[in-house]
Amino acid sequence: MEDRVESFVELIRRAATDLPADVEMALRAAREREEPGTAAAGALDAILQNVELARKRSTPICQDTGVPLFYVHYPVGTSPRLLRSQIERAVVEATRRAYLRPNAVDPLTGRNSGNNLGRGFPVFHFEEWEENFLRVDLLLKGGGSENVSAQYKLPYAPLKAGRDLEGVRKVVLDAVYRAQGKGCAPGILGVAIGADRGTGYVYAKEQLFRPLDDTNPVPELAALEDRLLREANELSIGPMGFGGKTTLLGVKIGAYHRLPACYFVTVAYMCWACRRARMEVRDGVVRYNGGGDGDV
Ligand code: SF4
Repeated sequence: MEDRVESFVELIRRAATDLPADVEMALRAAREREEPGTAAAGALDAILQNVELARKRSTPICQDTGVPLFYVHYPVGTSPRLLRSQIERAVVEATRRAYLRPNAVDPLTGRNSGNNLGRGFPVFHFEEWEENFLRVDLLLKGGGSENVSAQYKLPYAPLKAGRDLEGVRKVVLDAVYRAQGKGCAPGILGVAIGADRGTGYVYAKEQLFRPLDDTNPVPELAALEDRLLREANELSIGPMGFGGKTTLLGVKIGAYHRLPACYFVTVAYMCWACRRARMEVRDGVVRYNGGGDGDV
């Protein structure tokens, strides 16, 4: 297998130092909506200036570069073991170049590994597919937003939330209300309905790879996404919790089959620094998307 370590370093650089075009556009639209002179407008101005500076200087958008989550789709005949090893080498090099902050801490000793490698760190999801090219998607998930992610088990008596989409709506709004701007609003929600507990979090995070302007192919979920976005923004929590019209930039929902006895709703909260990037290798040619521009 060809050595692609440098290409993976570039994928990480793009994810860490720039925002996808759709996220930046949503932040700019939010800035237009807020009243000039308010704390909300000031927070969005600071965020947008920060994004421009990071892009220009190729430095991380936020001091917390989060947990790198790699979703790898590979063609028949490619070794996921070798891919993992190359990506890990790229993570070490990206840390050395300060695109990533050393974030992997051993919970038993409190020691930081210093290079972003550790048990279960970074996170990988490998899947063989029928296409004849390689695709690697990367999401950098910040700790503040991870702290306000939540999982509910329906029925949920405190909110009288039953096992239906109305119950889902109630608990998702509850998660936004409880976050109160923590996790660096305006946020983006990835929501998973169903599944087991562990898969629910994995699937909820996968929703965060969807562009903000896509439309859910399931009409009921598309309607719920629109309604939740509108209602969350009516809570007036606002950017960084300062009040205002923009608490969320998007809501993305997926549904997996569930056990008869279980009905989980999992909310993966992503901060405004929704750093995702994609790399594809077709016929030996590497292309990128995310980090502002790209062609895949
Ligand atoms: S939640 Fe996001 S924006 Fe806030 S500090 Fe963490 S990575 Fe940075």
